[in-house]
Amino acid sequence: MSDRRIDHLLRIIWMAYERESPLRDAIREEYGNEDFDEVLQTLMQEGLIIAEGERLRFTPRGKRAGEEIIRRYRLAERLFADLLEIPQSDYEWLACNFEHILSPEVTDSVCTFLGHPRVCPHNRPIPQGKCCVAFVNDVKPLVQPLTTLSLGQKARIVYIFPAHKKRWGQLHQFGVFPGNTIKLIQKRPSYVIEIGGTTLALDDEICKDIYVKKLMN
Ligand SMILES: [Zn+2]
Ligand SMILES: [Zn+2]
Repeated sequence: MSDRRIDHLLRIIWMAYERESPLRDAIREEYGNEDFDEVLQTLMQEGLIIAEGERLRFTPRGKRAGEEIIRRYRLAERLFADLLEIPQSDYEWLACNFEHILSPEVTDSVCTFLGHPRVCPHNRPIPQGKCCVAFVNDVKPLVQPLTTLSLGQKARIVYIFPAHKKRWGQLHQFGVFPGNTIKLIQKRPSYVIEIGGTTLALDDEICKDIYVKKLMN
């Protein structure tokens, strides 16, 4: 079985693991009954999966490998969806290919570039990498929290973390959503932005979770 196929399989299994549904079913669903035994055998030979009675589980090695693959996949999703604004139907295919070709170094660069996002466009968690924990500073993030802008800086909203989902409706009403352009006009005592010809005061907490890409003024 090719590395590529194993990567793909690991991602499928990881998603089942995340949903807490049986790994066995996920493999069967993806590969059918015919290939099931062969696929399972390979995963076990590679030391990625072990069987505990009827239940399949990740080995520590398998878990690490799964985490890495899902991290690459979801970062690729973020990259395509937010920054390049590629429609989902196209970026799914791209992300599937990207997950196989990103080296660990490039993955961390992409992560840093995107401001170490914690979730994918579907709000599924992105496992953290070395770059998210220890602050590596050789790549300047292209996407960063609104709070890091200087006064008068214009920026385009790239994504908003879902922690403030309750308030999304309200923010949306004022035009605070991905794709729109804002200008930071005040930082103290509170953040004020200009958006669509009106000014809007925002909580510090929310500003930290609004990620933007600087525009030329
Ligand atoms: Zn996703
Ligand atoms: Zn990171």
